[in-house]
Amino acid sequence: MKKVVVFTGAGISVESGLPTFRGSDGLWEGHRVEDVATPEAWLKDPELVQAFYNKRRADCLSARPNHAHLKLAELEKDYDIHIITQNIDDLHERAGSSKVLHLHGQITKSQSSINPSLVYDIEGAEIKRGEQCELGSQLRPHVVWFGEAVPNMEQAYKLAREAEVFVTIGTSLQVYPAANLIFETKPNCKLILIDPNAENYNVPPVVHKISEKASVGVDYLAELLAK
Ligand code: NAD
Repeated sequence: MKKVVVFTGAGISVESGLPTFRGSDGLWEGHRVEDVATPEAWLKDPELVQAFYNKRRADCLSARPNHAHLKLAELEKDYDIHIITQNIDDLHERAGSSKVLHLHGQITKSQSSINPSLVYDIEGAEIKRGEQCELGSQLRPHVVWFGEAVPNMEQAYKLAREAEVFVTIGTSLQVYPAANLIFETKPNCKLILIDPNAENYNVPPVVHKISEKASVGVDYLAELLAK
């Protein structure tokens, strides 16, 4: 089976009602990223950070996978599909994709604030003040904040190197090191970029750009894979 690695970002979940991170105002749901998605923000105002992610989690739980998530799951019938996602939502899993690597964590889980390897499922939408890991520290969202290491990056590079087709969907390619993945692919790997803003991206000319929203782009993708 052809090995297809699909790298997804916030754009693939837009049609499920979850907004992207960089809106036209440069804010994430009205907040500056430094105020809610950094270790410094957690030290300065843990209540604000927890409330921000509790709201994101509630939005995620009430969202449904859209056609783009569902189509990628369906393509597993014919291709060896591996998803690498920057998203913290669980819409790929709920659509039925079986191989999903999260680079920036999962909002549906919590982690110890002193040992990031201690990770727990969350019951419901909230992590409450006073909920602790087994070492006695306050639980925080299981997400990778700006300035933190990306533990799954090596596994992602390995997948990118093995890809016969590498597809990028709905990411501005502005968050590093994840944006480097496309440059790890082998010379004969077919490269495809799906994003309504694709024409404005500065990527190598060999990249096949599909300037469509994700739900439309995945049907073009299916046609390209079948050729
Ligand atoms: P980004 O916000 O930087 O870029 C989003 C991209 O999606 C843009 O290129 C935009 O043109 C494109 N887009 C908009 N509507 C689209 C559609 N309907 N179909 C396809 N593409 C569309 O997002 P990013 O590059 O993924 O980086 C954001 C970071 O923020 C990630 O690290 C992630 O952890 C976090 N984040 C996650 C979620 C989520 O889990 N759903 C949502 C917001 C932010």
